[in-house]
Amino acid sequence: MTEASPMAGRDALEKPVKGLDVARIREDFPILAREVYGKPLVYLDNAATSQKPRQVIEALVRYYEHYNANIHRAIHCLGEEATAAYEEARAKVARFINAPSPECIVFTRNTTEAINLVTYTWGRANVGPDSEVLLTHLEHHSNIIPWQRLTAEKGASLRYIGLTEQQTLDLDGLENLMDARTRILGVTHVSNALGTINPVQKLAAEAHRNGAIVLVDGAQSVPHMPVDVQAMDCDFFAFSGHKMLGPTGVGVLYARPELLEEMEPFLGGGEMIKRVTLEDATWNDVPWKFEAGTPNIADVIGLGAAIDYLNDLGMENVRVHEMEITEYALRRIRQMEEVIIYGPPDSADRGGVISFNYPDLHPHDVGTVLDRHGVAIRAGHHCNQPLMRCLGVSGTARASFYVYNTLEEVDVLVDALGQARAFFSNDTN
Ligand code: PMP
Repeated sequence: MTEASPMAGRDALEKPVKGLDVARIREDFPILAREVYGKPLVYLDNAATSQKPRQVIEALVRYYEHYNANIHRAIHCLGEEATAAYEEARAKVARFINAPSPECIVFTRNTTEAINLVTYTWGRANVGPDSEVLLTHLEHHSNIIPWQRLTAEKGASLRYIGLTEQQTLDLDGLENLMDARTRILGVTHVSNALGTINPVQKLAAEAHRNGAIVLVDGAQSVPHMPVDVQAMDCDFFAFSGHKMLGPTGVGVLYARPELLEEMEPFLGGGEMIKRVTLEDATWNDVPWKFEAGTPNIADVIGLGAAIDYLNDLGMENVRVHEMEITEYALRRIRQMEEVIIYGPPDSADRGGVISFNYPDLHPHDVGTVLDRHGVAIRAGHHCNQPLMRCLGVSGTARASFYVYNTLEEVDVLVDALGQARAFFSNDTN
C-alpha cells in the first residue's frame, strides 16, 4: 500500500479542481464546516443523498416566511405567488432535462414513487399474460420490485439483461434481447452500486424497433451530467431531487405527453379532477391529473433553486469535475494492495461512484472505521441485492462524489482505508 498524503487542515480541502471552483462552492454548504468525531467531515455518500447549499435552504425559508399558501386554488396574493413559484419550478425541471414542455413533468415524492406511478398506471393497462418486462442486473430495488409486483399480478414474464466481466451490461446480440412480447425495458442510466453508465440511447432505439417503450431510472445521472430526454428518446424518465442538491420529498417523472394523456390517474382526490358527481368524475389536464392532493410545494420550489445552482455551475463542468475526482480515487485505491474495486475500469464509463471491498473485511466494519476518521461512505447492498449476488458478495463499501468534493478528501479516504486495514490486522493478531 502506498503512503497516503496527510490532510493539512481545512486549507488543504480548498484547492480548486479543474472544472469547478470547489473552494467557492464549499462555502455555500454550511454542513461541510462541521466535524465528526473531532475530524473535518468528508462527505462521500452523495449517491445516497447530497448535501444542500444555502441557496436551497434559503428558498425553503423564503417560501415559509413570505408566501406559504396552497396552490392552484387560492384567489389571494400568497396563493398566486406560491402557484407561480411551483409551476416555475416545473418549467425549470423541464428545461434542465430538455423535456419538450413543462406538462411532461409530474412531481412525485421520489424516484421510487415515479416508477410505481408507471407500473400502476401504464403497466396495469399495457402489460398482460403474454407480455414481457425486461430489466437489467444493474437495477436498484425501486426499478425491480414494482415490476415484480406488476408481472406477478398480470402473469407476465420478467427477464433481465446480464453483465459482462467488466460489469457493464452484456449487450452482445442486442438484437435478440427483445421481441414483440417485450412491452417495456426498464434500465438505470447510471448504476448507484457500481457507477456503470449504460448506453440508454442505443437501448431505447432497440426497444422502439421492437415496439417496446423505455423507462430510464435517472436517479444517478441527472445530478451529475447533462441529460437530454429527447436525445435519449426515452418514454419515461425518473429521478429524485434530494440527490441533486434539492430537498428530500420531491421526485420527478418525465413522460412523453401522449403517454401521460392515455394513462389513468395514479391516486384519486382533490386537484386531479375537473368535475365530480356522486357517481363519477372527469380528470384534470396533465400533469395535474397525476398530482392528487396538496403537493410538496416548498420542496418543489427548493428543487427549482437546486437546478438554478447546478445551472450556474454548468452540468458539463460538474461532469468534468467528477471524472477527475473519480479517476484520481481509482488510481489511489488501485495502489492499495488487496482492495477489490468493482465496476468499469475507466472513469469515462462510470459516474462518480466507486464500490470496493477488502476481501476479508465486512464493508460495515470498514465504513465504521472510516466514520471515526470523519469519512462518510455507504456500506451494504445499496438496494441492489440481486447485483450483489451476481458479484458474489453480500455488500460493498461505496464512495460517491459530488461538486464539493476535493482530491484531498480522496487522500483522507485512502488514508482512512489504510487505517481500517491496520486496525483489523491488529485485531486478528
Ligand atoms: N434508482 C437509483 C439508481 C438510485 O440510486 C436510487 C436511490 N439510491 C433510487 C432509484 C431510489 O431513489 P429514492 O430513494 O429517492 O426513491
